[in-house]
Amino acid sequence: MTRMAPKREGLKASQTAKQVAVVGGGIMGAMTAAHLVDQGAKVTLYDPNLMGTGPGASVDTGRSFRVHYGEDKGLIKMAVRSRVLWGNWERELGRPLLHTTGKLLIEEPGDRHARDSWRAMRSLGLRADRMSKGAVSEEWPGLHTGAATVDRMGGVLDPMVILQGLLVWLASRGVDFKGEAFDVTTTAVECAKGRAEFDSVVLTAGAWTRRWTEVSMEVTRQELVYFDASALGGRLQNLPVFSHMESGFYAIPTVKDGRIKVANHHPGVQGHPDGDARQVSAAFEQEARKFLGRYIPELAEADVARRYVCFYSGTADRDFILDRTSEGLVIGAGFSGHGFKFAPLIGRLLAQLALGLEPEVNLDRFSMKRPALRGARTKIAV
Ligand SMILES: Cc1cc2nc3c(=O)[nH]c(=O)nc-3n(C[C@H](O)[C@H](O)[C@H](O)COP(=O)(O)OP(=O)(O)OC[C@H]3O[C@@H](n4cnc5c(N)ncnc54)[C@H](O)[C@@H]3O)c2cc1C
Repeated sequence: MTRMAPKREGLKASQTAKQVAVVGGGIMGAMTAAHLVDQGAKVTLYDPNLMGTGPGASVDTGRSFRVHYGEDKGLIKMAVRSRVLWGNWERELGRPLLHTTGKLLIEEPGDRHARDSWRAMRSLGLRADRMSKGAVSEEWPGLHTGAATVDRMGGVLDPMVILQGLLVWLASRGVDFKGEAFDVTTTAVECAKGRAEFDSVVLTAGAWTRRWTEVSMEVTRQELVYFDASALGGRLQNLPVFSHMESGFYAIPTVKDGRIKVANHHPGVQGHPDGDARQVSAAFEQEARKFLGRYIPELAEADVARRYVCFYSGTADRDFILDRTSEGLVIGAGFSGHGFKFAPLIGRLLAQLALGLEPEVNLDRFSMKRPALRGARTKIAV
């Protein structure tokens, strides 16, 4: 088996042949399992749905990758590191996973996020451009946003290709796939095939996490509308992901199906993937159309190709939970609608926690005991 050296960097002593269970095989569980395997652990992955299917948050046609995070240099650095790791995974899986188009931040009068992002990125030596209205339309004909900041490292990740590639990769490395976990403790998991004991258990069950442990997060309904963008022809290929952070609206072009997904990043009303109907309201569809038509007028009347509802597991401060309970259960949760881009790094961090290694990123801000988790929402869009 050839493994890539870069995925191993930063780790200390190896503790091989540990038996580790990962409960939840969305992107976070899959990446955690991959890194555990890479460290020599024997991994059992529990999920009732094969990766890339099912009602979880990781299943979609496109996820935005970007490194801009306003003034938050901690997250910017983690995103930059994740981008390197996505590159390693592209080589490992032998196919493109990230389509780099740039990520454009619309700046309306009085907005801060675009400007803060530009300043923070430039101070770290990262490529971000401030563009005039004319420059935007010149680079991307048909896109009329007014002044904007462009994060040149941004683009679109393809969750289906990633999850299905990881599924094959994990299976070929001997990961044992099991179905739904009925009971989870710090050292054991029970499923229809019986109860098994482990050295360590990692819980990456997204919206289902609270079935086994108390974490402060709320699950919210997020409506998505996919517009047919075939009228743009070849221009869709280069179109950047674009968003207006203050209103929360964003648009993700997905070249392979000729669509643009429009949604809002602000947390919606509470719900749960098991119970809620996945119907999109007419009012939201109208708002999504208004956003798209405002910036790409030729798509103002575009057909709707698909409507869907997805669920964020959000924390009050929009930061993740990457921690161990006092009993030792490793938890990766609360990804607050912006975790996908960090998945290869998060997988490493959770694997490091499970193996008793020092995490390569200081995890204090992601503690499950941080006071900010118990307060009111402190950030609406990150
Ligand atoms: C609409 C939407 C848009 C988003 N857009 C972006 C974006 O553009 N960029 C970005 O970076 N991030 C984005 N995110 C966030 C990102 O997709 C999530 O943070 C990420 O997918 C969470 O992955 P996960 O593995 O934690 O959870 P999930 O993918 O939900 O995985 C949890 C898994 O647990 C399994 N499970 C449940 N119960 C059990 C059980 N009893 N036993 C075993 N397994 C079980 C489920 O089947 C599921 O597969 C978005 C999220 C949503 C919902």
